[in-house]
Amino acid sequence: MSGAQGCKCKKSKCLKMYCECFAAGLLCNDGCRCVECSNDNGHVEIRKQAIQDTLKKNPKAFEPKIAHGPTDGKVCGLSWSSARPPCSDFLQ
Ligand SMILES: [Zn+2]
Ligand SMILES: [Zn+2]
Repeated sequence: MSGAQGCKCKKSKCLKMYCECFAAGLLCNDGCRCVECSNDNGHVEIRKQAIQDTLKKNPKAFEPKIAHGPTDGKVCGLSWSSARPPCSDFLQ
């Protein structure tokens, strides 16, 4: 898995595509040196909202990372959180 290198976001709260972790569909981790990070398990709802906002502005924002599924290829295959299945409640 990637993401070990971490990001260095200062203003985006890691909820914009500027954040390499967020853009890759990953939570920030110990390797990150970000400030006021919301891309973690403590901000699930905020992060989900940010993901939806991002997709609203750019439906293809995450596309390169995504393995296209048979029915809904938009978000399936992303591992936003290991605690939840990738597709279930992501986009209601
Ligand atoms: Zn970040
Ligand atoms: Zn972060």
